Amino acid sequence: MAILDRYGRPLRSLRVSVTDRCNLRCLYCMPEPDYAWLPKETLLSFEEVGTIVDAFAALGVDRVRITGGEPLLRRDLPSLVRSLANRRDIRDLALTTNGVLLAQQAQALRDAGLHRITVSLDTLDRRRFVDLTRFDSLDSVLAGINAAASAGFDSLKIDTVVMRGVNDDELTALVDYGRSVSAEVRFIEYMDVGGATRWTPEAVVSRREMLDRLRAAYGDVVPLDEESSAPADRFVLPDGTVFGIISSTTQPFCSTCDRCRLTADGVWLMCLYARAGTDLRRPLRAGATAQELRQLISTVWASRADRGAEERLSFEKRQPLIPVSALKKDAHLEMHTRGG
Ligand code: SAM
Repeated sequence: MAILDRYGRPLRSLRVSVTDRCNLRCLYCMPEPDYAWLPKETLLSFEEVGTIVDAFAALGVDRVRITGGEPLLRRDLPSLVRSLANRRDIRDLALTTNGVLLAQQAQALRDAGLHRITVSLDTLDRRRFVDLTRFDSLDSVLAGINAAASAGFDSLKIDTVVMRGVNDDELTALVDYGRSVSAEVRFIEYMDVGGATRWTPEAVVSRREMLDRLRAAYGDVVPLDEESSAPADRFVLPDGTVFGIISSTTQPFCSTCDRCRLTADGVWLMCLYARAGTDLRRPLRAGATAQELRQLISTVWASRADRGAEERLSFEKRQPLIPVSALKKDAHLEMHTRGG
């Protein structure tokens, strides 16, 4: 039973952040010198996450993606994976990670029942990796991708945020690398979300430009004809290699968005661009019944009218969504708290 929002969009997909902490400081997400973290006692326990996921599943959610911050920093993550994988209603269980700690955890995550994994990787150049993330961890990420490739996941993807003058000369190198490890690469347009305080329109490499460059390198680039609410449009190269583009900035896809996000402290967000969310931790800890939680969730979803990325298109002079001063006052506005 799917519930519909005000634009008739069903509630299908939940992204669950398990921590706001991260072991990288990517230029497009966490470029500031310091951050305030969510208080530890506010973080949902795995049992609380399970209760909330059950409420969503009863309302039609069948896809869950675990994210962060960096989710592999959360202690004993495979036990959460195991408990979510055992829920019959959850047909698709995925994880997004920066891969730094993946080599040690890939097999345990697969054994716990994780279906799919996405690793964020923006460059194959070690020096550039350090400039982009402030950590010298490229070798660990590549080892993590290798471990994931041999752990037997249903799918392995690599997500790359493309920034002009930073890594936009690596499109073909990343496609070729993805092919070599049997991973599908997805290029993400640089988004002006909260936390992207260095964002400028000039730094965005549009889907159109990416496709032009890939065509120039490979020849024919053919769109795959797929009906899907997934954020990436997929394309195939003459040798059969498939890649994706997530064009949230220049060609957003709000009309098919069936996703929402839960922060590690239980704030439920309807849209990456939303200014505020609904606190689910408070009613949960106050003893709300499963029925009361479901009622709250369905009421809020039914009133959802968010189409944040499309609204951003109408801004004549686009600049970072949220000023640093406002981010400092409310960590919930940050992309690393929302989970991407
Ligand atoms: N730490 C994990 C990781 O690196 O994949 C999960 C959290 S991260 C916030 C999730 C995703 O958000 C990553 O794929 C990252 O590339 C993306 N992201 C963060 N800031 C972005 C921005 N300004 N534009 C586009 N994508 C962004």
